[in-house]
Amino acid sequence: MITQEYKINELFETIQGEGTFTGQPSIFIRLQGCPVACSWCDTKHTWEISLDEQVKTLVITDKKQETAQWATFTIENILTLIKTKAYQAKHIVITGGEPCMVDLTPLCLAFESRGYSTQVETSGTFEVNVTENCWVTVSPKVNMRGGLPVLGSAMKRANEIKHPVATEQHIDDLQNLLKNHCIIDTPVYLQPISQKNHATTLAIKTCIANNWRLSVQVHKYIGIE
Ligand code: SF4
Repeated sequence: MITQEYKINELFETIQGEGTFTGQPSIFIRLQGCPVACSWCDTKHTWEISLDEQVKTLVITDKKQETAQWATFTIENILTLIKTKAYQAKHIVITGGEPCMVDLTPLCLAFESRGYSTQVETSGTFEVNVTENCWVTVSPKVNMRGGLPVLGSAMKRANEIKHPVATEQHIDDLQNLLKNHCIIDTPVYLQPISQKNHATTLAIKTCIANNWRLSVQVHKYIGIE
């Protein structure tokens, strides 16, 4: 019997638009709660876990727009929902909010034992508790308002590092992180913030100079979630 529960803001099927798995049909599980407080965050509605916003699971499954509403799901609830919706994707993306505030190992195990691949997207400010096979995307958030440091353990666990970029300072922050935590071989993606011209030009130039990769949030260009 699996008893672990998760606070979920959204659960939907789409195409992964970022990083190594770009183009991969995926089921996104968006967890509620994040204390990191990035100024450019495009999911600010996931920050607070307000009891006033707690709803029944059915409300989450039928969401038509972004809201701060969340519901508690058991793993059985999640598996049942995916079956009911007849989702076809075999890749699970656990995102947030900041999903690593909770132990994700039981969730990953439940999916992997049923033939799914799993991926978690984290800011690197919490210990990453996932299965060995889970693909870990660390999008390190340095000097954010929440005041949480990026952890060396998270940087070392990363299968890919996806860094949001708008200014030269963001590049310097990343270079320092890689140096301080001796990260050498992990693939690095630069992701221009908000598709702005300066950010995109800077990211392209820096990727070429460092042999890094560009991640352009494909889902935003083609207008899907
Ligand atoms: S870590 Fe992610 S969810 Fe949290 S504030 Fe930053 S961008 Fe938003």
